[in-house]
Amino acid sequence: MDLADMADKQIEDRLMMALAHQSKLNASGATAGYSTTCDECGEPIPTERLKILPGCATCVDCANLLEQANRIWGKDVGT
Ligand SMILES: [Zn+2]
Repeated sequence: MDLADMADKQIEDRLMMALAHQSKLNASGATAGYSTTCDECGEPIPTERLKILPGCATCVDCANLLEQANRIWGKDVGT
């Protein structure tokens, strides 16, 4: 296993957790309304990001992860 494989695995693990978390939120209807913390990891979302993307629910890191997953798996994930 090389470094790239390990990175892929980490992204995959993190994403699985994020998706599980998100489906829990969806089930409880908690996605309505604005949040200032990331839905995926719970970290605060920078105000600058919220200004650019009002109502966005993920931090930059998680948004990048989701984007990478879309690229790897070739489909939309978590929407
Ligand atoms: Zn996050």
